[in-house]
Amino acid sequence: MLAGGAASLALAQSAGRNTRNLLIVTSDGLRWQDVFRGADAGLLTKKGGGVSDEAKTRSLYWRAAKEQRRQALMPFLWSVVSKQGQLYGNRDAGSEANLTNPMLFSYPGYNEMMTGFGDPAIDSNDKKYNQNITVLEWLNRKPALKGKIAAFGAWELFPYILNSPRSGVYANAGYEPMKLPAGGERQALLNRLKIETGIWGGEALDAPMFLSALDYFKAMKPRVFWVALGDTDEWAHHNRYDLYLDSVRRVDSYVKELWDLAQSMPEYQGTTSLLMTVDHGRGNGSAWTGHGQKVPDSREVWMAMMGPDTRPLGERTTVAPITLSQLAPTIAALMGEDPKAFSGKAPAPVADAVGR
Ligand SMILES: [Zn+2]
Repeated sequence: MLAGGAASLALAQSAGRNTRNLLIVTSDGLRWQDVFRGADAGLLTKKGGGVSDEAKTRSLYWRAAKEQRRQALMPFLWSVVSKQGQLYGNRDAGSEANLTNPMLFSYPGYNEMMTGFGDPAIDSNDKKYNQNITVLEWLNRKPALKGKIAAFGAWELFPYILNSPRSGVYANAGYEPMKLPAGGERQALLNRLKIETGIWGGEALDAPMFLSALDYFKAMKPRVFWVALGDTDEWAHHNRYDLYLDSVRRVDSYVKELWDLAQSMPEYQGTTSLLMTVDHGRGNGSAWTGHGQKVPDSREVWMAMMGPDTRPLGERTTVAPITLSQLAPTIAALMGEDPKAFSGKAPAPVADAVGR
């Protein structure tokens, strides 16, 4: 019989953790419905989801069975993470993941995931430096981790969410060029592409951001590395379900690329954990484009993890609900720290995720 949550957590703490490095990948407003059910038939049309080439999009993402649909959309998640790790948030199977903040949009969501609580004072996406201490800032104060925590984000708000001037956590975000000393021509090209392919104010396309992030990862070898993708939210707001699905497919391939790269490096191989989640969900049917207080369903999110401290329990069914606020204490616990020392306001970590 497997030990229960609290018991296995205590066991893991006494045994010490195997995780030395952490990869965190988020994708703004990527719905649990699409993760667990695959593409949504009602949105795979011009009328339903603004799909421009229905035949093409259906051939890419439509399959009769939901297991095949989700595999077509997120093959790494459903062939590797679902076997070696754990997935939470399939409400069809009795697993819920919820926001605790009532705002249901980005800054409050990212604050909740990185501080362990929803702060009512954060009620806009304005460029205000976060007054709360994120778990990344807290970890960056540890001598062994100082300067080894970094974030790459498509959205320009991440240096504010992480309060980089105070926290010292490196955050490359929005259209900010990357400036690695040995970046060379490839870095100059990526910086240029980031700007010249830009179609949204305040948010770069995922592709040049992610490729820059990979270069940073290889060169700087961060211990905790957060990649925050954004295409999913933008295409959803624009009611382009075809381009949203393409973005989800890319998110999955980026996670695979980052994971495989880490496993090919001696500093990371076998000692790295992965966490995936989102800042908020979205609505159902025609409300899929939106989120926020007028779309109550957008409190519904999902989470996935794998690594040397996470038992391979796969897709979780009929389990206690979890919250986005559990991400920060889970990060602390995986990095071998006492989550209670991080914050008295944060809940316990996701117990099964940290109790191998
Ligand atoms: Zn949004």
